[in-house]
Amino acid sequence: MHPVIPSIPVKVGNLFIGGNHPVVIQSMTNTDTLDTEATVEQCKRLFDAGCQMVRITAPGLKEARNLEKIKNELRQSGYEGPLVADIHFLPDAALVAAGIVEKVRINPGNYCDRKTGKTEFSKAERQAEIERITQRLSPLVEVCRKQGTAIRIGVNQGSLSERIVARYGNTPQAMVESALEFLQIFESLDFDQLVISMKSSRVRTMDKAVRMLVERMRRKGRIYPLHLGVTEAGDGEDARVVSTIGIGSLLLDGIGNTIRVSLTEPPENEIPVAKDILEAVEILQGYTEQALDTVEVVYPDILGLKGWKDGTKGQDLARLVTYIRWGRLLLQGYTGDFKIKGKAFTEEEKETIMDNLYQAVGLRSHKTRFIACPSCGRTKYDIQSVLAKVKARFPDYPNLTIAVMGCIVNGPGEMADADYGYIGCGNGQVNLYRKGELVQSHIPENEALDALEALIRAEHNPRTGH
Ligand code: SF4
Repeated sequence: MHPVIPSIPVKVGNLFIGGNHPVVIQSMTNTDTLDTEATVEQCKRLFDAGCQMVRITAPGLKEARNLEKIKNELRQSGYEGPLVADIHFLPDAALVAAGIVEKVRINPGNYCDRKTGKTEFSKAERQAEIERITQRLSPLVEVCRKQGTAIRIGVNQGSLSERIVARYGNTPQAMVESALEFLQIFESLDFDQLVISMKSSRVRTMDKAVRMLVERMRRKGRIYPLHLGVTEAGDGEDARVVSTIGIGSLLLDGIGNTIRVSLTEPPENEIPVAKDILEAVEILQGYTEQALDTVEVVYPDILGLKGWKDGTKGQDLARLVTYIRWGRLLLQGYTGDFKIKGKAFTEEEKETIMDNLYQAVGLRSHKTRFIACPSCGRTKYDIQSVLAKVKARFPDYPNLTIAVMGCIVNGPGEMADADYGYIGCGNGQVNLYRKGELVQSHIPENEALDALEALIRAEHNPRTGH
């Protein structure tokens, strides 16, 4: 699938992101980066599934150095797909990684800023911070220029810098300003091999921020390629629905050059979902708005083309097409009534799709909203099974968001809008949070679910959520 909005092309190893190149599918490992064998094997599984680029976390210098071993083993086994290092907090790790892998992701909210609790910044203080960041980015740019390494400015709503939040709040605009601030610094250093992402666990926020950024870049006359994804989407059907709507709605409008479906599941599960989203968007692009209004006409075509007869693929694609088509309109403010028509679904399935649509775009809630990070090399517990248990124990709190996060480094910030949070902190222990505040720490894991239940039940009744 090709993007419609032209951006500058960015070379990432043997691929290009942006320009008129097809949308690239990527994912991320969740193994310990120091476990070379497990990481290499997971990368291979991802590439075999059709992933084109794999990101690996490098939380420290040791992990950054180990990327070389991982890359060498992959290349020796004939896997040529680009690798990306994921960096938070440690510019030195970025410097090492930039000499090894084809792309480095940095987070403008924490590249060289730590939280201090400061809520006000004078103009002079802001300027001093920009100068400090420029100094810290300058050596990275030099390595990237020399090695032909690209950089992703990876903005996450949950980890914006205090300087940005103090000025713009925790808003889509703040995300845009954060990206543009770093973009301007890179441009001042004469470096343009950049990809930008604007992630949030809320589809609406992500959609708004990306569209706003595109508009600002368009006005500046230079559009950089965009990486799309809904972060902390969780697992199962709910995660697939929010990713399909978030990513698909933007792709349908020609926005986006690389995508990552983020699931708290084995990462190779992300790839078929990403492929299906691209396929569903391509189908939708083949129809005019008027034709889409008469979905009875559209579905038989889709289903006829995509194996309606064996009852498999056609059904999935029909669902994806429905989510993207209506999700995009709801995100754009459509307030009219609509009905899912056609023979693709039973009446019960249609009802479920409607409920999922409204829940995903944040307009109505019929069940607990769960968010969970996809986990990475920082995760020190079995987040996938814990998420399943949390979802099974607390399904009926429609007004609550419960987060299950993989690490205490980024987890607390990135789940800041959750009402309750569960984070495994290693050594079989768990920290519990309420509205972003740590309320119980180092609980043995086998007691943590009961402790979370006691915490929630002290303040809320199931179903009413009050
Ligand atoms: S929050 Fe999850 S994905 Fe993010 S760094 Fe921590 S473990 Fe990794």
